[in-house]
Amino acid sequence: MLRNFLLQASTRRNFSASSSSSVAFFRQCSSSSSSSSQIPNSHFVEHMEDTNEIPPSATISIDRTALYNPPEQSHELSAESELVKHLKNIIKFRGGPVTVAEYMEEVLTNPKLGYYINRDVFGADGDFITSPEVSQMFGEMIGVWAMCLWEQMGKPSKVNLVELGPGRGTLLADFLRGVSKFKNFTDSLHIHMVECSPTLQELQYQNLKCITEDSADGNEKKGINSTITGSSVSWHASLEQVPTGLPTIIVAHEFFDALPLHQFQKASRGWCEKMVDVTENSSFRFVLSPQPTPATLYLMKRCKWADSEEIFKLDHIEVCPKAMDLTQEISKRIGIDGGGALIIDYGLNGVVSNSLQAIRKHKFVDILDNPGSADLSAYVDFAAIRHSAEEVSGVSVHGPMTQSQFLGSLGINFRVEALLENCTEEQAESIRTGYWRLVGEGEAPFWEGPDNQTPIGMGTRYMAMAIVNQKQGVPVPFQ
Ligand code: SAH
Repeated sequence: MLRNFLLQASTRRNFSASSSSSVAFFRQCSSSSSSSSQIPNSHFVEHMEDTNEIPPSATISIDRTALYNPPEQSHELSAESELVKHLKNIIKFRGGPVTVAEYMEEVLTNPKLGYYINRDVFGADGDFITSPEVSQMFGEMIGVWAMCLWEQMGKPSKVNLVELGPGRGTLLADFLRGVSKFKNFTDSLHIHMVECSPTLQELQYQNLKCITEDSADGNEKKGINSTITGSSVSWHASLEQVPTGLPTIIVAHEFFDALPLHQFQKASRGWCEKMVDVTENSSFRFVLSPQPTPATLYLMKRCKWADSEEIFKLDHIEVCPKAMDLTQEISKRIGIDGGGALIIDYGLNGVVSNSLQAIRKHKFVDILDNPGSADLSAYVDFAAIRHSAEEVSGVSVHGPMTQSQFLGSLGINFRVEALLENCTEEQAESIRTGYWRLVGEGEAPFWEGPDNQTPIGMGTRYMAMAIVNQKQGVPVPFQ
């Protein structure tokens, strides 16, 4: 079945938007950023002990696919954005700093002013590029994975297919085009998009080639369907809002990395939470909490899952309670309703130290610089996801394995060959480069452009993990 799919599903996506034009855009990421300037001055909190000694990301160097320049510490004087005013008001009226998690949540998903809310942030004209935008093969291979899981689930006639944080909707559009010939599967699908951004919801509607059917009297909306497969599509602000009661397949690609996290730093008095404050001259700065904060409970939970040696050597730790809670929500749903979830992201299979980064126009920038104008993301702690899922009964956890192993085992090699058989020279170059980006490691060996354009493979930086209902056995390709 697998091989059959890979060879049969030979339709190609229109390359102009996602492949050849963006290929020229891939750049090398040469270094990571450090934190912003900190000016000691606060009564409420103790300051960083020696602001010049805050180490840059010592254990982690981050790559968000299409980065090529060192951090830019711009701090240009510009008119304050509404989001900056809003953040400063929160800090002012509270009478003290906010956690990095609160800062991140406001910056990314504030319902009016958040980074994701009012714009398309992806691609050459945006801030970063993700795997589905690199090559149609990515979404197609996720489609293969989901169809194999559906077979293991006993081919149910109704399935909720949920995507968390679908971006432009490219992954699912390629997924549906790829599986469109397998009618039994596509007829079972009820698609649910979990997306907080109205702008991106609109783009997803377009990319899934949706139509809205009106009722006979033309007043009430009857439903939305993707014309790619005829499946119903609906949008939700959170997973909680997606109806339960049907076997469910969940896909989360580059979603967990955008969830708000807490940062802790080892100080002489122990682990302190890093907070965001405002200086007297009205710029943002990091400070350390003088006493334990509520998130310390999550830090303790996370540390219990690690060896003491692993913790001992770190002086920063990131903890993401939202990722832990979301994992449990996913696991409970799958444990009860059946199905499985696939999480793909960049990350580590262990404690993450100091990985939070801001990216604007494909460059690393200061995390505190003009918040809302850059993406914030961090490495995903796959070990914490595993432990969170394992606390829920009825599910089994598989992986993480590298993206290269995952796509390779699913047969991306056959798919690339099938695509190369029927394409122009320009398309062939784009297909090969896209393939390299998805599964390669380090710099592309065949690239002949200027040095600073050498594409970097995502094959080992990105990892895949599956959480499935225990009754279904081990999912493809984790056997
Ligand atoms: N999966 C896509 C996009 C990744 S970017 C891709 O790989 O191309 C993160 C996505 O998650 C965006 O669509 C963003 O709007 C959405 N998002 C981020 N935080 C969210 C939240 N708390 N609730 C719902 N959607 C969120």
